[in-house]
Amino acid sequence: MFVSVAIDLALDRLFTYSVPVELTEKLRVGQLLRVPFRGRIARGFALATTENAPEFKTRPVLAIEDESPFFSPALLKLVRWIADYTASPIETTLRAALPAAVLKPGARAKEMLYVEVGQPTGPLAAPNPAHGQLTLRQRQLISEIARVGGGWMQQLVREFKTTPATLRGLAEKGALSIVSRTTRRDPLAGRNVLPTKPLPLNPLQQAALDVILDEGRETRSSEPHPSPFTSRPVLLHGVTGSGKTEIYLQAIARMLDEDKGAIVLVPEIALTPQTVRRFAGRFGDRVAVLHSALSDGERYDEWHRIRTGAARVVVGPRSAVFAPVANLGLIVVDEEHDPSYKQEETPRYHARDVAVVRARLEGARVVLGSATPSLESWLNAQTGKYALASVPARVAGRALPAVHLVNMEDEMARIGHLPIFSSALLDAIHRRLANGEQTILFLNRRGYSRILECPSCNWVAECPDCSVPYTYHRADNCLRCHVCGGWMHVPAACPDCHGTDFSYTGIGTQRAESALTRCFPHARVLRMDADSTSRKMSHDDILSAFRAGKADVLLGTQMIAKGLDFPNVTLVGVLNADVSLHRPDPRASERTYQLLAQVSGRAGRAEKPGEVYIQTFSPAAPAIAAAASDKGFAAFAAAELQDRKAAYLPPYCRLATLVFRAKDEALARPWAELYAKSLAGWAEKYNRKNAQEAFRVSEAAEAPLAKAEGWFRYQIVMRAPAAKDIVAAVRWIEAARPIPKDVRLAVDVDAQSLA
Ligand code: ADP
Ligand code: ZN
Ligand code: ZN
Repeated sequence: MFVSVAIDLALDRLFTYSVPVELTEKLRVGQLLRVPFRGRIARGFALATTENAPEFKTRPVLAIEDESPFFSPALLKLVRWIADYTASPIETTLRAALPAAVLKPGARAKEMLYVEVGQPTGPLAAPNPAHGQLTLRQRQLISEIARVGGGWMQQLVREFKTTPATLRGLAEKGALSIVSRTTRRDPLAGRNVLPTKPLPLNPLQQAALDVILDEGRETRSSEPHPSPFTSRPVLLHGVTGSGKTEIYLQAIARMLDEDKGAIVLVPEIALTPQTVRRFAGRFGDRVAVLHSALSDGERYDEWHRIRTGAARVVVGPRSAVFAPVANLGLIVVDEEHDPSYKQEETPRYHARDVAVVRARLEGARVVLGSATPSLESWLNAQTGKYALASVPARVAGRALPAVHLVNMEDEMARIGHLPIFSSALLDAIHRRLANGEQTILFLNRRGYSRILECPSCNWVAECPDCSVPYTYHRADNCLRCHVCGGWMHVPAACPDCHGTDFSYTGIGTQRAESALTRCFPHARVLRMDADSTSRKMSHDDILSAFRAGKADVLLGTQMIAKGLDFPNVTLVGVLNADVSLHRPDPRASERTYQLLAQVSGRAGRAEKPGEVYIQTFSPAAPAIAAAASDKGFAAFAAAELQDRKAAYLPPYCRLATLVFRAKDEALARPWAELYAKSLAGWAEKYNRKNAQEAFRVSEAAEAPLAKAEGWFRYQIVMRAPAAKDIVAAVRWIEAARPIPKDVRLAVDVDAQSLA
């Protein structure tokens, strides 16, 4: 037998080894093997076995490192699908599908000393020759330990005010025994999670749950020979506050009843204690949490708890889609439209699409939930490729907030300058302060002011390594680049005209904060953005303080837009809705709508009704007008889909970007141009053969982010009916015209933005 192995190194090709007879019985695909490699011993994953000897000489596998496979056959298939779909090497894709903490040399379960004692009436406590020699105090200690049923040595020492030496002495006398036991490094340890019971669903929720659970049942029973279970993905479109999480929880409970497991994907930013608590509160120890803030040890333990089946419900961000859940029944993708599901490095997969494919491979259900679905999923639901479950109203008859647009052009004309807060918004905040209700203010931009400008010559302070303006940060009076993290002090004078009278244009969260405290000196304001959270208070601290009513206003960037549920918030203000509207991105309008709808959804989630003020210069822009209209998402989606169709943009085609980077501009540009020309030739042939204009290749151009971290960036945009058409063309050109080492090419199939 022979086995092809992906060596655990960044080699990106497979190697074939022979399997010694004594290993053939035990060897399985997905296992981690030890193999000889270039004069040393390397580790690698078994990907496939065959009886056919290759034409070259092979060396034997040395050992099976771990008998239980790291990847099930279905997961291996999934990894191969991703590698093909995203034009990524299989090796890199395998690595992305496994937490690094699991493979680290020396990674293992944590062992601790555990003290065992017999029952007070059991054999150890019963007349024991050794006991006669024990002091009264020692006998008391043993019976106390027996009463609590034994425990970790460390804990007992603390609890019963004794010493490890005493316990060891007692063990030598045979009065108790000390063993080494595996202990769990629990990411939820110390957080008090209150158990919850299923809520009685309202009729809308119940109907949605029925769609989820019934999907696929019919096709199965109507067939004469039931094929493996296949169900369409279900798009759960429920307005904010419609109780989607309760629907997920009850669908998962059903899976557990059927002895199946579940994965819940949430945007990383939403992995606040609040979200985790909702799942742990319902399913307790059966929940495993995977996210970037875990320690290596916690991650190792959680992953193994999933693999052994101790945990059956996994909650995590996009990489949790690879969790080794056996007998998978359901994958939930919450906030399925969220851009964080797309991995922005190789393999550039989209976790929502991976979830759909994994569910198909494993006969599981998949639910994509959102108040503002991606147009990809929405179109699939319209065409019947996905089933649609709608929850058009909030729970308990609560109203959606009233949304008002404030035209900032009028506001500026009225008072002669551009204010940060319109008078309508100020009035609304004032009313909340008077009533003891809370306000969320949203500004999609951090820093004190956007940019530092010289008004006399129009010079703008820009990062020399990235083609973006610096952002001014007042706290340390410096300019920071939000692309590379580089910074400099505010210059004493303009380098061009030596003027010293700078102006700071744009509004950042810091400036909004100081303006707010000027208007309302007694208001308690909390700010949350990437700067505030890295300092004094963590993310969680800020949110808990706000929840506990320790502040009147929470002011922040998109971090506060999603998923948060604060009952006392009755007002949401969007300071500048236009920020995301004018981006060089085919999804700019969709993203703007999503952001506005999500942030509006934070208002009036409990008994008191909510109100939203959106400040804008473009009240007629479709995304902004739609966010304020009561026609809802469907109306926005219909109009936006029409535009996309007319412009031949996703979801009506697949769009990929090719980004060429080089430290030397004279290298990046010609390679981009050469590829653009060759690919255009390929496209022409494709279109002639298929008698259509469906394969389109743009010219090579500077990327919107023309320079980043010292690399010059050029870009080609490709559009075609299917991803495989694009990947075929890219594979062809990469083989025909290999790129030199000092130019980097990043292929992004289904690119989410054109930056
Ligand atoms: P969504 O995720 O759709 O925005 P949530 O799941 O956060 O909505 O639910 C909003 C609020 O309604 C939560 O506080 C939740 O506990 C509550 N809720 C959900 N379902 C019910 C129900 N059937 N009866 C009463 N309250 C509910
Ligand atoms: Zn920079
Ligand atoms: Zn100047």
